[in-house]
Amino acid sequence: MAGSSEAPRRRAAVLAPPEPAPPKSEPEPVKKPAAPLPFLLDFFPLEDEKNTRLAAFFRNLKEGRLTTTKCRSDGTLAWPPRVVCPQCHQADLDWVDLPMVGRIYAFSAVLMGAPLGMESEVPFVVGLVDIPDVPFRLFGRIVGTPWEQCHVGQKVRAEPYELPDGRVFYRFRTVG
Ligand SMILES: [Zn+2]
Repeated sequence: MAGSSEAPRRRAAVLAPPEPAPPKSEPEPVKKPAAPLPFLLDFFPLEDEKNTRLAAFFRNLKEGRLTTTKCRSDGTLAWPPRVVCPQCHQADLDWVDLPMVGRIYAFSAVLMGAPLGMESEVPFVVGLVDIPDVPFRLFGRIVGTPWEQCHVGQKVRAEPYELPDGRVFYRFRTVG
């Protein structure tokens, strides 16, 4: 018997006409925060006592001192500064001054693709700096010399860098 084994033919899909867009409502008014907040991709942290237990680092930096934490128990010098010792995990730490002068260990020039908000500063230099008598290198912005003339071994001095909103960070300036 010749049964109808043929599958029913598919009906061509018919696209429904687009529904009319819902009427636009008025956008919610943007509530402004009481104080300006850092924007997304903010490279600089909240620095006051209310927001960080490392506020002393920024306070010292405003006075021109580059400081970090040293463990009272085992003498571990940490970078960046910590609230507990990375070796023995106790929180009894001292703030100690770091040498302000060092030498470029490695550097890179940012010639394009700058992070948001830094487009106007291109070209600029970032690098790793060796400072004497510490077991780490510091990373930071290097200013004072065009990138083409920067070189490994060049002497730099750390300095505070004030942001327009009152925060502070460090950077290195070439010496001589
Ligand atoms: Zn320790």
